Amino acid sequence: MKRAIYPGSFDPVTYGHLNLIERGSKLVDEFLVVIFNNPNKKPMFTVEERLAMLKEATAGIPNVVVDSCGGLLNEYAKSKNCRLLVRGLRFYQDFEYEFQRALLLKKVDPELETAFFMTEDKYSYLSSSAVRELALFGGDISQMVPPCVEKMIKAKNIITLK
Ligand code: ADP
Repeated sequence: MKRAIYPGSFDPVTYGHLNLIERGSKLVDEFLVVIFNNPNKKPMFTVEERLAMLKEATAGIPNVVVDSCGGLLNEYAKSKNCRLLVRGLRFYQDFEYEFQRALLLKKVDPELETAFFMTEDKYSYLSSSAVRELALFGGDISQMVPPCVEKMIKAKNIITLK
């Protein structure tokens, strides 16, 4: 079975992520979307909340599996018998970060390949942090995230502002 892993924070999942999930899932038998906690970022949503929103947002794509992992990405990939990682590229800052990350992973596990998907231009501006920021100030995020995520963000903002 051909598998790919799309690791990320997905805090929250956006239409940019979903576009990549739709495109990537067409190329393999099983497409694993896996939440990894990025230690450099303080998440808005718990892993459980992110699992729930990813599952709902990808429910229409039969070969997508949503999971989370607190350990090492290369060990997770090995446990799933998977040698292909997928990441996305938007603006030039992504290149620097992703290039370094992919090279490091290659050192850790030379068998593991990272493939990059170029963003679609209509999503090139879109990031989870932009969504979080906009939502915090009551901006319209309906073009950026699916309705289930918008609902969860609104609930979260009310709670945090109390
Ligand atoms: P991480 O904290 O691991 O960078 P993110 O959830 O921010 O996790 O992003 C996961 C991956 O999705 C990254 O490779 C990122 O570049 C990519 N990505 C995020 N938003 C978009 C988008 N709008 N278009 C294409 N790729 C994207």
